[in-house]
Amino acid sequence: MAAKPTIITCLNCGTKNRVRPRAEGIPRCSVCHAALPWIVETDAAGFDEEIVASIPVLVDFWAPWCGPCRMVSPVVEQIGREYAGRLKVVKLNIDEAPAIAARYAIQGIPQLIVVKDGQEGDRLVGAVSPTQLRAMIERHVTAVAEPPGVSG
Ligand SMILES: [Zn+2]
Repeated sequence: MAAKPTIITCLNCGTKNRVRPRAEGIPRCSVCHAALPWIVETDAAGFDEEIVASIPVLVDFWAPWCGPCRMVSPVVEQIGREYAGRLKVVKLNIDEAPAIAARYAIQGIPQLIVVKDGQEGDRLVGAVSPTQLRAMIERHVTAVAEPPGVSG
């Protein structure tokens, strides 16, 4: 396997979990079984494996020299935590993966692309706000089931 495991800290109990890419299900904490915030950094070798998931994947194309990327990165991580169990976040440094950047026709960064079942859904370019990013994600993730009798 080309993708390296990621250490993900559980938001609920603080346990550090080793998480590998998986096509089925979602990663859960080994101790409390809460859905983990599935935020991983990958490279050219791990990318194709990481974007295969049972839930939508938000790919963050960034580079170390890109100022706006540093503003967008915490927004992306915030969204990844908010949507734990419903969204996977994959961060790719395009300097280390020019062929993948070319495959997705990445002209400017930061660029955020939703990949669902291997297909590109939507993309956002530039220094997006949490509101803009949330609006895009909401079009792709499964809604949280509400208790019966509660609406609006
Ligand atoms: Zn836990």
